[in-house]
Amino acid sequence: MQNPAVIIIGAGPAGLSCALTLAKMEIPCLLLEKAAFPRDKVCGDALSGKTMHALRLLNKNWPAELENHARTLDSWGVSFYAPDRNNIRIPFYLEKSKKHAAPGFICKRIDFDAWLAQKAVAEKWIDFKDNASVTACRYINHVWQVEVNGHVQYQSPLVVIASGAQSAIANAVSNFKTKPSALCVGVRSYFKGVENQDKENFIELHFIKSLSPGYLWIFPLPDGETNVGIGIRSDIVRKKKINLRLELSHLIKHDPVLKSRFKNAQQLSPVQGFGLPLGSNKRKLSGEAYLLAGDAASLIDPSTGEGIGNAMLSGIIAAKHCCQAVKAENYSASCLYQYDKEIYKNLWSELKLSRKLQYLSRHARLFNFVIRQIKKSKKLQHIITLMFEDIKLRKQLSKPFFYIKLLFLPYH
Ligand SMILES: Cc1cc2nc3c(=O)[nH]c(=O)nc-3n(C[C@H](O)[C@H](O)[C@H](O)COP(=O)(O)OP(=O)(O)OC[C@H]3O[C@@H](n4cnc5c(N)ncnc54)[C@H](O)[C@@H]3O)c2cc1C
Repeated sequence: MQNPAVIIIGAGPAGLSCALTLAKMEIPCLLLEKAAFPRDKVCGDALSGKTMHALRLLNKNWPAELENHARTLDSWGVSFYAPDRNNIRIPFYLEKSKKHAAPGFICKRIDFDAWLAQKAVAEKWIDFKDNASVTACRYINHVWQVEVNGHVQYQSPLVVIASGAQSAIANAVSNFKTKPSALCVGVRSYFKGVENQDKENFIELHFIKSLSPGYLWIFPLPDGETNVGIGIRSDIVRKKKINLRLELSHLIKHDPVLKSRFKNAQQLSPVQGFGLPLGSNKRKLSGEAYLLAGDAASLIDPSTGEGIGNAMLSGIIAAKHCCQAVKAENYSASCLYQYDKEIYKNLWSELKLSRKLQYLSRHARLFNFVIRQIKKSKKLQHIITLMFEDIKLRKQLSKPFFYIKLLFLPYH
C-alpha cells in the first residue's frame, strides 16, 4: 500500500477499532505500532459492558467468540469495600439467566489486544506494521509526512493518533498538556493464590482511606491468577507523596481485609505503572487533518478508570469521520470538528457524572454510610444494579437528595 487514505498511529483498542471500522467501509489504512505484537499493556484487564458493546459494533459475533477464548474469565458483578472495610456485592444483572451473556470479562491485555490485532491482520484494507515507532509527524503542503523508526517515511492526507497516554506524538501534534488533576496514575501486578476469590468472579474495588479518592482493585483472571493494582489521581499522589509500589505491597501485607487473603499468594510480576488521562474536562479532539482517539484524546472514566470501551467507541466514531473526510476530500479542522461534537454527544454526560462521583469516594464517612445503607436493603441493592444500565438512574448518585433519602426513607 503506497499512499494510504489514513494513517493510524497506535494499535491499542482505539487504533485497532478505527482500522477495523475503516476496513468495513473499504478505506485503505496503514496502522503503525511501535511495539512487537503480542505486546503487554499495564491495565486492570477488566472488559466492561461498554467494551462488549463496542466489540458488537465491530462484529456482532465477536463478543461470543471472545467469551469462548481460553484466556478470558466472565464476571457477573462488583464488590465495593468501603473505607471502614464493610462490603457489598452488586450483581450487574438482577437475575442471572442463561439468555444473558456475561456482562463483562477479565482478560489480560496481552491476550485481548493480540486477539483483536489478529482481526486487523486478516483484513486486506489494513496494512498493519508492528515494530514501527512513529518518531516524527509533519504536516507539509496538506500532506502528513510520517517518519517511522527515525528513517522510513509514509504519507497520507489524514492521521488518527491513537498512541495512548503519555504520547509525545499526540502532545506534539495537538499541542496539549494534561493537567495533573485530570490525570490518574495506576500500578498493577499479577498474583497467584489470592484466597477467598468471589465465586462469580465479581471484580473487587477497595476504597481504602490512605488512597482516597482512589482505590485498590482485585480482578480475578483465568488459571487462579489475579490482577491487583491501585489507581489514584496524580495531583493527590504528589500532594500526599505516595509511593504507589510501596503502598501496594504495604496494603496487601497489613490491611485487615487483605492480609489474610494474600498470606499464601505468590507475586508473578513486578509492580508496573502507567498514566490514565481522565475525561474530566472537554478538550480539543481534532484539528487540520488529524483526529485523536482513545487515551490520546483523554477519554477515561474519571471515577472508575475504565478506558477500553471509550477508546474503542472513539476509534469507531473516528473512522466514520475519516470516511466522510476522504470521500469529500475535505480534511479541514472545521470539517473534522464534527468528530469532537459526536464524541462528546455520546460520552460527555457519563464522563461528567463520573467526575461528580469522585466526590463520594473522597468522603470516607459518606461512603461508609452509603455502603452500610445499601447492605441493609435488598431494594437499594436492586436499584444500584439497575444503575449500571441506566445513566438517568445513576445521576441520582450525584444529587444530595439521594443521600438524604438514604437517611430517612424506609427502603428495607
Ligand atoms: C494501571 C491501569 C489500569 C487500567 N485498568 C483498566 C481496566 O481494568 N479496564 C479498562 O477499561 N481500562 C483500564 N485502563 C485504561 C486502559 O488501559 C486504556 O484506556 C486503554 O488501553 C486505551 O486504549 P488506547 O488504544 O487509547 O491506548 P493503548 O492501549 O495505550 O494503545 C496505544 C498504542 O500506541 C502505541 N504507540 C505509542 N506511541 C507510539 C508511536 N510513537 N508510534 C507507534 N505506536 C505507538 C503503543 O505501543 C500502544 O500499543 C487502565 C489503565 C491503567 C494505566
